[in-house]
Amino acid sequence: MRASDSNSSTLELVCPAGSLPALKTAVDHGADAVYIGFSGDTNARHFAGLNFDPDRAQQALDYAHSRNTKVFLALNTYPQADGWQRWQDAVDLAAQLEFDALIGADLGVLDYAATHWPQLALHLSVQGSATSPEAIRFYHQHFAVRRVVLPRVLSLKQVRQVAAASPVAVEVFGFGSLCVMVEGRCLLSSYVTGQSPNTFGACSPASAVQWKQTADGLESQLSGVLVDRYSANQPAAYPTLCKGRFQVPQSGAEAAYYALEEPTSLNTLALLPALQQMGVAAIKLEGRQRGPAYVKQITRVWRAAIDACRRDPQAYQPRPEWLQDLHAVSEGQMTTLGAYHRPWQ
Ligand code: SF4
Repeated sequence: MRASDSNSSTLELVCPAGSLPALKTAVDHGADAVYIGFSGDTNARHFAGLNFDPDRAQQALDYAHSRNTKVFLALNTYPQADGWQRWQDAVDLAAQLEFDALIGADLGVLDYAATHWPQLALHLSVQGSATSPEAIRFYHQHFAVRRVVLPRVLSLKQVRQVAAASPVAVEVFGFGSLCVMVEGRCLLSSYVTGQSPNTFGACSPASAVQWKQTADGLESQLSGVLVDRYSANQPAAYPTLCKGRFQVPQSGAEAAYYALEEPTSLNTLALLPALQQMGVAAIKLEGRQRGPAYVKQITRVWRAAIDACRRDPQAYQPRPEWLQDLHAVSEGQMTTLGAYHRPWQ
């Protein structure tokens, strides 16, 4: 069962795709919408081998639209003064190719799109970090934004408050890797590598990554900064600064541990009835940097879960096999409710 209207109270399933095979996988396994990025730094998953040139984007749109699935374009990085033309060209291309929506964050990009392509639907990216109905109203009034993706800093109570007063449809993240919860504002990667995820489009760019086998274990580094060290039986992860293990004094002694954030994935399967009840319009799954196997696993599980919740929210319970499947593709094989869970609120 697929949602037909992104602004209705039925939960729409929005899935990630970093490549055409991943997009086809998402479409074939029940996505209501898929979000993609153009090749280059106009989106926040600017990694080698990922994303879509104009031909591939056209193929993606043809494939998805012929199967009643929408395609959104993530154009959610912040242009600098000498790079504006790339963002403007990307907006023009998105409108000409007739994407179902453009997901933007930068005020200049949103203004250009709203002024020059009023028929192109606009969504406010999580990178825009709008946390109040008043902020959302600003984007709606000035750029006719039709949907907002809420940042992952809000508790469930705060999501309810925002959804109740938002002038536009609200989308929330349901699953996937977490940032340290300063959406659009993290400087860790740019501090160490000189390349900011918000302008260059990639946190911890691959060109800055080094792997070194040492007598103490396998070391991951970013621009020469040690991010983690793994013993022979530990699985090594891509070096992301917020999820590195660092020597920090603890009770007088120094121990290497996750000083900023543990590697774990957000998983809100258990919250689906509450999110549906508060009128959330869409659930977004993170992971454009992951392959088709990941996309297949998460899309299948979330399609089944959303359908079960829509059929009977009172009886809905996440099935053990769904949780198992999501654990298997989670960062560090761990999941969390993240900021949604604040029992003191
Ligand atoms: S370092 Fe961590 S918190 Fe900062 S942008 Fe990268 S993933 Fe997000």
